[in-house]
Amino acid sequence: MERELLNKMFEFHGHKCWASALGLRAGLLALEKLGVEKAKAKELYVILETGYHHAAGCFGDGVQFATGCTLGKGILIRKPRGKLAFTLIDPKQKKQIRLCFNSKIRDKILASSFMKKRKAGIPPHEIPEEEAMEVVNLVLDSPIEDVILIGEVEESHFEPPVEVMGLEVCEICGEPVAKAYVRIIGTGQDIKKVCVDCSGYPEGFEK
Ligand SMILES: [Zn+2]
Ligand SMILES: [Zn+2]
Repeated sequence: MERELLNKMFEFHGHKCWASALGLRAGLLALEKLGVEKAKAKELYVILETGYHHAAGCFGDGVQFATGCTLGKGILIRKPRGKLAFTLIDPKQKKQIRLCFNSKIRDKILASSFMKKRKAGIPPHEIPEEEAMEVVNLVLDSPIEDVILIGEVEESHFEPPVEVMGLEVCEICGEPVAKAYVRIIGTGQDIKKVCVDCSGYPEGFEK
């Protein structure tokens, strides 16, 4: 892998760590397997299985950087399972592939001084760079099949979410809100178009 690309990813991510490097390597492999280029708009989707409450969530940043499937573009879908795994989907070809961290390399990673310090609660950016890079290189230089469980390229039945263009202004707070998130409150003649927070509807409720 090009070091320049790796360093750009670390810059995006904020620190040097093996999990983001693993995400980068896996993301690039997934693109290659589907025969596609990094997403510029909404050509591809990623379903990311990392969770919110575990180490190595850094993996997701590597995957986003590699595939271009970023949260901001709306093409990163979270399905938290606490796994360093994701599915890359190409709706145009109706193909997908799932990749997951292979436990085969895990003991070597855990034995590193980087992981010993992480376990002791030291944040990654406070660990000497050589120690972080030792594990990064382990993940990047080991045979790919020891590092990543590579699924088959499969037929995809994924339906990309329908886009609703345009904004409305909430009649209570005055903030612009995408049409799909506008809620109607009131009855009869007295109805208002409002945002979710002003609607009083339970959070996460969607039409
Ligand atoms: Zn990280
Ligand atoms: Zn509002």
